[in-house]
Amino acid sequence: MVEGRRLKPVTNVVSTKKELIEALPITGSIGLVMTMGALHAGHRQLVDAARKENETVVVSIYVNPLQFAPGEDFDTYPRNLAQDLELLGDVDIVFAPTDEEMYPREPLVRVNPGEVATCFEGKTRPTHFAGVLQVVAKVLNLVRPDRAYFGQKDAQQLALVRTMVADLDMRTNIVAVPIVREESGLALSSRNAYLSTEERNLALALVGSLRAAREAAAAGASPEETEKVLSEALEAAEGVAVDYATIVNPDTFQRVSSNAKQGLGVVAARVGPTRLIDNMEVTFG
Ligand code: AMP
Repeated sequence: MVEGRRLKPVTNVVSTKKELIEALPITGSIGLVMTMGALHAGHRQLVDAARKENETVVVSIYVNPLQFAPGEDFDTYPRNLAQDLELLGDVDIVFAPTDEEMYPREPLVRVNPGEVATCFEGKTRPTHFAGVLQVVAKVLNLVRPDRAYFGQKDAQQLALVRTMVADLDMRTNIVAVPIVREESGLALSSRNAYLSTEERNLALALVGSLRAAREAAAAGASPEETEKVLSEALEAAEGVAVDYATIVNPDTFQRVSSNAKQGLGVVAARVGPTRLIDNMEVTFG
């Protein structure tokens, strides 16, 4: 629950596509926020942005099996619909479908996310983004929102959703929402629930390395030097197994060129059994 907020739990919860379509208004703008539940203040920020800009706000809550590979945390992913609904009091419609409703059969036609889905997150999770884009395309087609809100927290996902919407001429504006962090700097994530108190402290190395990179870039380090600062800071952290620590172009997820003005520091690391990601814009110069 977000502190200081006392909202009545949202009551307009629909679980079938038919109910969803019937609940949608005929006029006025629609804002969509897609989530996997286990909601926190990061999700709430997306809802607040949607609330400001649209007459109707729709939130989907669905742990999409297609984006989890065997052996990942699909079965253990935190699910608590009643608690989630308390955070969504001023939302007009919540769409919380079952797997049977979303995928009555194995989908035959699949979204191919292309090359950007094969690097960074896609390298560790090769089927992940195809699964994400499949469900995003489905929910965008069902809700047909004017705007859909995605967190900068999942920067590669955001880039891929933007690419899909552009390449398939989908008529929704994709709005990026900045990362919400704890006071400690830790980026809010539903997966933080897996962390012990000690692991939460170790996890601060992710944001710490990104801040070090941002400062180095601002002080005049080149992209190559900045990347070195980023990866060395994260590698040096105790109890953190680094997956990647790189400076990329936020649209293409290619390495930034040596004369770039801006880049995105992206990191992924395992803290205990939990894999965490974070990112931060860096400006050179
Ligand atoms: P998830 O439920 O993890 O699939 O996330 C649903 C949406 O919330 C995605 O667009 C995420 O990028 C966004 N989100 C998750 N955590 C944060 C955060 N700490 N700050 C901003 N957006 C977030």
